[in-house]
Amino acid sequence: MAGAYCNFCGYRCFVYRIIPDGPQEGWAGHLATCASGMAHDRKQTGHDHTTATNPLQGSD
Ligand SMILES: [Zn+2]
Repeated sequence: MAGAYCNFCGYRCFVYRIIPDGPQEGWAGHLATCASGMAHDRKQTGHDHTTATNPLQGSD
């Protein structure tokens, strides 16, 4: 299962998120919760798990 473990911390640190805006708007998948993984996600999508939409909370 490629990508099951985080490349940065070595654990499955991911949480499910949807990117709410920016070039990757609408992308849904797993974002990292470790510091290095979050920095990588911010570079890739403009968001990390704290700023992307959590579909399980239904917040808007
Ligand atoms: Zn990680």
